[in-house]
Amino acid sequence: MMTVEDPVCRNTMPLENAHASQEYGGWAYFFCSTHCHTAFKLNPERYADARIPAAFSAPGDASHPSRKA
Ligand SMILES: [Zn+2]
Repeated sequence: MMTVEDPVCRNTMPLENAHASQEYGGWAYFFCSTHCHTAFKLNPERYADARIPAAFSAPGDASHPSRKA
């Protein structure tokens, strides 16, 4: 059984119990409720670090923090 983590409330749950899912930045996120799903959609960047895309951990990125934002 696959367990997924809700990036909004940090609950973990079996994938089959996830109430909603959302794809963002090449990752799939799962939510325990529509409330959490809505919160994610309103501000996905706040929660997206729960699944770090490979691009953000690429060597060299950390050496140029001033280039971000
Ligand atoms: Zn939740």
